[in-house]
Amino acid sequence: MSIFKRRNAIEAKTEDELRAMRKAGLVVADTLKLAREQAVAGVSTGDLDARAEEAIRSAGAIPSFLGYHGFKGSLCISVNDEVVHGVPGDRALRDGDLVSVDCGAIVQGWHGDAAVTFIVGGREHGRPEDLALMDDTESSLWDGIAALRVGGRLYDVGDAVETSIDQALLRRAAQGVVQEYGILEDYVGHGIGRQMHMDPQVPNYGVTSSGPTVPAGATLAIEPMVTLGTIETRTLEDDWTVVTTDGSRAAHWEHTVAVTTGGLWVLTAHDGGAAALAARGIACAPLLD
Ligand code: MG
Ligand code: MG
Repeated sequence: MSIFKRRNAIEAKTEDELRAMRKAGLVVADTLKLAREQAVAGVSTGDLDARAEEAIRSAGAIPSFLGYHGFKGSLCISVNDEVVHGVPGDRALRDGDLVSVDCGAIVQGWHGDAAVTFIVGGREHGRPEDLALMDDTESSLWDGIAALRVGGRLYDVGDAVETSIDQALLRRAAQGVVQEYGILEDYVGHGIGRQMHMDPQVPNYGVTSSGPTVPAGATLAIEPMVTLGTIETRTLEDDWTVVTTDGSRAAHWEHTVAVTTGGLWVLTAHDGGAAALAARGIACAPLLD
């Protein structure tokens, strides 16, 4: 390794390391599926968190958020105008709440990190603008992921996310559903591996520079956060929960992705990303055991 290794360079994992990270990714995928199923009206975010911790530990994994810089949960659960880093507690969920759940797990020292957004009680309880926000943010995540390729430039991800959101807004505005989308700039995606947050940062929005070149074996967490209004946020007195300053609701979607010469392997998606990548003409390339 060069002593001039740049802080911005992206670490490359071996195929065996990617297989190990897939194990952590599947624990995260399973835990998020469970949290989503259990997030019904009347359940508290603290209850959801306790069940998630149990699920993670019974899978032989460690919850990476718990104790991270003092965080008091295994999930971040962010409701309505809370964007990210929501602290689980006594809050009871209500039908129609727009909930983002972020989960991290460690298996044999390797990390997985992913987030989903859903409506409590199902889509029929969602406001039209919340459904649009949720769906368009998820699409922007996949469009950002689809911009990754070996030899490509990392900041193509943010360009793709921003283009996706811009085009979605045009469609929604024409339908009269959404007037404004804001892509957060204060919080970004990141490299991931033996640690949850590794260099480089991955902006979820377009920037003027092109960023580092993506090597084979790169593993990256892509995670757009989009609001129905401002991109200005503040942190609540719990020192964690990030809310929009204008009270607008927010969505957050995230996956941990491996980039290989064969294509992409979305480590935190049960299908490895096959369906969403196929819809975008991108090869899904899971490694066999
Ligand atoms: Mg996360
Ligand atoms: Mg992350």
